[in-house]
Amino acid sequence: MKFSRSHQLFQEAQNLLPGGVNSPVRAFRGVGGDPVFIERGHGAYLYDVDGNHYLDYVQSWGPMILGHAYPSVLEAVTQACQRGFSFGAPTEAESELARIVIQCVPSVEMLRFVNSGTEATMSALRLARAYSGRSKIIKFSGCYHGHADMLLVQAGSGVATMGLPDSPGVPAETTKNTLTAAYNDSAAVEELFRTYPTEIAAVIVEPIAANMGMVLPKPGFLEKLRELTQKYGALLIFDEVMTGFRVALGGMQERLGITPDLTCFGKIIGGGMPVGAYGGRREIMQMVAPVGPMYQAGTLSGNPLAMAAGIATLNELRKPGQYEKLEQKSQMLGEGITKAIKDTGAPAQIVRLGAMFCVYFNSQPVSDYAGAKRSDTAHFARYFWNMLEQGIYLPPSQFESCFISLALEDEMLEETVKAVKAALQKSA
Ligand SMILES: *Cc1c(COP(=O)(O)O)cnc(C)c1O
Repeated sequence: MKFSRSHQLFQEAQNLLPGGVNSPVRAFRGVGGDPVFIERGHGAYLYDVDGNHYLDYVQSWGPMILGHAYPSVLEAVTQACQRGFSFGAPTEAESELARIVIQCVPSVEMLRFVNSGTEATMSALRLARAYSGRSKIIKFSGCYHGHADMLLVQAGSGVATMGLPDSPGVPAETTKNTLTAAYNDSAAVEELFRTYPTEIAAVIVEPIAANMGMVLPKPGFLEKLRELTQKYGALLIFDEVMTGFRVALGGMQERLGITPDLTCFGKIIGGGMPVGAYGGRREIMQMVAPVGPMYQAGTLSGNPLAMAAGIATLNELRKPGQYEKLEQKSQMLGEGITKAIKDTGAPAQIVRLGAMFCVYFNSQPVSDYAGAKRSDTAHFARYFWNMLEQGIYLPPSQFESCFISLALEDEMLEETVKAVKAALQKSA
């Protein structure tokens, strides 16, 4: 495979954009080497500027669950374009997309659209603080909720730590109200509530931790968070930016039967356009301006093109049998990869739920960030490049999830399993 045009474009881009990219993980630093520049996507495939094509398991980091340039989404966006791009005034499409989300996710009674997942979590936390009149929040190490200052706290391993910023430029004053605990460690959360019984506004959690590879919640963990937040009068915020409309129409909360107070969305609800949203109980959402005093705004929020893409995408996903289809594909791929790991004796494991999975180069079960970090990233890098050479595009980091789209046909999944087996053999 040759990448000469990608290399040349990357050289030029590095003079113009920090690291040649507009989001760090795209730069392939996690696997070494230069990123591939994409020319177009169609269905299950990405096509690069050197004429190579790949089965896409990144899907723009989650949104493209139908595959690229899906006909009904393309049609909806094209039609919306012809009516103008943005008005800064209400449109019917905003209510239409809100109605769909509210129908699909029972815990959500009202919704506010924003432009990214980052904005959704940032605003949901402002709302939780406004509603409760409290300042502290709890997040879990290894959970990513976008790049807002107060959330750029990772905390080391261990039971529970006060938040120290992860990035220069984030003042310690900004994160001093961010408490952290290890994922799946509800005892640590209970301890924090005992220490600060009347100061914690909210617990924010990814109901599947999908930004440290993929870590599933242990049975009872999220239920315990629901119980503790209720007991201490704090809000429970599910960050379903990744899992919303991916693991079920109603997200992970539907699969678990847990009702959070607020939910954050992004990725799939925009069908590839920049959209985020936060929503929840009516009584809480009515704190948001202009009904209530919690200020939050956006020039392009609820943008007509973005709403059109979201509506068309969710309407496709609402058709009967779509999640069963995704589950079948996921299962077929999961079984194939499990067998390939067994046959090759590779020191790896697959974590899988619904239309998402992760192959960890780690022989111990992973239940938190400390465990995820014990993975062999050098081995992952060799596996990644081998897969790319075989025409399979994976996230360029051990600490990301892979996504399955409806556009993946059985023979593509079989091709992927064969590639995994060869890559495991060669990267050993
Ligand atoms: C991607 C992601 C975000 C941030 O969304 P952006 O649109 O990139 O700002 C927040 N939370 C989770 C769980 C995510 O996966």
